[in-house]
Amino acid sequence: MKDCLFCKIVEKEIPSDFIFEDDRVVAFNDISPQAPTHILIIPKEHFNSLMDIPDDKLDIISHIHNVARKLAQDRKIDGSGFRVVNNCGKEGGQSVGHLHYHLLGGRQLAWPPG
Ligand code: 5GP
Ligand code: ZN
Repeated sequence: MKDCLFCKIVEKEIPSDFIFEDDRVVAFNDISPQAPTHILIIPKEHFNSLMDIPDDKLDIISHIHNVARKLAQDRKIDGSGFRVVNNCGKEGGQSVGHLHYHLLGGRQLAWPPG
């Protein structure tokens, strides 16, 4: 989608080191990491948010979660634990309008979130 920051990252118009890429998703480090591991996993196809995925494309969510599991193993945080987060909409704290999941780990994470 034109003028979408994460679409530009997918298209490599904005340089970013991909940690993982396949035909459906890319993963890269968050520019402002909140934990020793803070990876963003995003679909290559543009969806504004979790609420904007058509029913027949919802399998992208299970795929993103599977990539999160794989990256957690790669980072060796699968045993210690980690968090997979989707911020959806304004009060959910979503600041980039292209669906993305945060993979956070490598330290004790607090709950509840602010
Ligand atoms: P949200 O707040 O929408 O859930 O998450 C957006 C995330 O994208 C934030 O954690 C923010 O640090 C990250 N971010 C914003 N712009 C960029 C960028 O240009 N490159 C990367 N790698 N991350 C970004
Ligand atoms: Zn986009």
